[in-house]
Amino acid sequence: MTDYPNYGRIDGPIVIIGLGSIGKGTLPLIQRHFDYDPAKLSVIEPNPAAADFLAAQGITHHQLALTPANYRKVLTGLFPEGKGFCVNLSVDTSSLDLMKLCRALGVLYIDTVVEPWAGFYFETPDNADRTNYALRQKVRDEKAANPGGPTAVSCCGANPGMVSWFVKEGLMTLSHDLGRDDPMPTDRTGWAKLMQGLGVKGVHIAERDTQARAKPRPRGTFVNTWSVEGFISEGFQPAELGWGTHERWMPETAHSYDTGCQAGIWFERPGAITRVHTWCPTPGPQFGFLVTHNEAISISDYYTVGAPEAPEYRPTCHYAYHPSDDAVLSLHEMFGAGKQQTVHEILEPDEIITGIDELGVLIYGHDKNALWYGSRLSNEEAKSLAPYQNATGLQVTSAVLAGMVWALENPHAGIVETDEMDHIRCLEVQRPYLGPVEAHYTDWTPLQDRWELFPEDIDESDPWQFRNVLAT
Ligand code: NAD
Repeated sequence: MTDYPNYGRIDGPIVIIGLGSIGKGTLPLIQRHFDYDPAKLSVIEPNPAAADFLAAQGITHHQLALTPANYRKVLTGLFPEGKGFCVNLSVDTSSLDLMKLCRALGVLYIDTVVEPWAGFYFETPDNADRTNYALRQKVRDEKAANPGGPTAVSCCGANPGMVSWFVKEGLMTLSHDLGRDDPMPTDRTGWAKLMQGLGVKGVHIAERDTQARAKPRPRGTFVNTWSVEGFISEGFQPAELGWGTHERWMPETAHSYDTGCQAGIWFERPGAITRVHTWCPTPGPQFGFLVTHNEAISISDYYTVGAPEAPEYRPTCHYAYHPSDDAVLSLHEMFGAGKQQTVHEILEPDEIITGIDELGVLIYGHDKNALWYGSRLSNEEAKSLAPYQNATGLQVTSAVLAGMVWALENPHAGIVETDEMDHIRCLEVQRPYLGPVEAHYTDWTPLQDRWELFPEDIDESDPWQFRNVLAT
């Protein structure tokens, strides 16, 4: 790709919050694909190490951390014109507070996660309050209380984000392959009824990251392919998933909700040590971790048919994440030791010698059993497409780009999640950065990869019960 499409002009300031792995990878995509006034592009980043990188490009660096005490003053000062774009790619800043302020200022906003202020993940005493359900519901309540207005795109990374667009492409692929050729739905109800009509029981966000470097992981170091802090935070949140109407059994420690969208349940156990049986094209059957993610709730909510408290149909949906092998070892060490490693490393694109990030949606339970639909981007290809990022990063940053384009083209859409956006337009923008995007059918079910010498308490009458998916 050398002739980069131009997606229009961003008037007013562009402020990127956070220049970590995702911020650093998003910056060149913004520079590549939009017109803007370079003098009005700036970055808020507390880490002094960003200074030289930004200075070399003539980009203003605000070296500070946003806090509940200073964010209003800082952002109001940076957006004096009632226009512009705030691109929040930080940790430890409240997505909800920042999006509310940006909307009040008339500024477009995007983030990749519903992030809370510092302290939330480890200092919130009640596990129910530490869930993504709780974080997301506050954003949904704000949307309901203040519909319309300046666009704020919530949770537009790879997952949450791109995978919601893959669910729609996967459903249309499945409809075609089942010989139904349903017309493309035009609203939420239509999509939910399509998923129901196709006989889908649920969706795994099924990921296998095989990226690796030559150097063995040093003991005492948490190695990951994206934010270590972000992964540890979400890994310590309770395991959580969208809960489908076909489920006949719940773990003893499960809790449900009687307020909000009521699409999710959570367990009294950290997600990063809760294993599920899942499937990706490269490994075939594998364990994934049931790490909580916004999309597990948003997808189950979006595809619900009927009333939230007594739905006629709802799919189960959850993340089933096999991170890079170094990250699996890092988790093993951290949970075993009962404390976090003090050294954190993100695998850099130039040190990775092998591997891909295979991230897709496993749509299961229908007449063709299961369909995996997703991106199989290698680090080698990612390096040839954009600077400063590995395959994991590019899947996220290209979704941010797509979300920004959509927001620019739909500036008065209010608060939206990626399920509510035009997936065709978004994937049109993102696809050049995703490597092979493929559909794979499999006859695998969670009843298959079992050790016969150790019989388990499973439900053989329906392979796709969560009881069979959850590893004991
Ligand atoms: P990172 O840890 O590499 O970078 C985060 C940056 O935020 C750091 O540079 C840090 O200094 C900065 N920061 C910390 N506190 C801040 C504050 N108070 N104000 C401003 N900046 C602050 O993380 P990353 O890998 O770049 O991820 C960034 C965000 O994107 C995280 O919230 C992560 O969970 C999210 N993410 C989403 C997806 C997705 O697919 N949806 C994927 C990867 C990461």
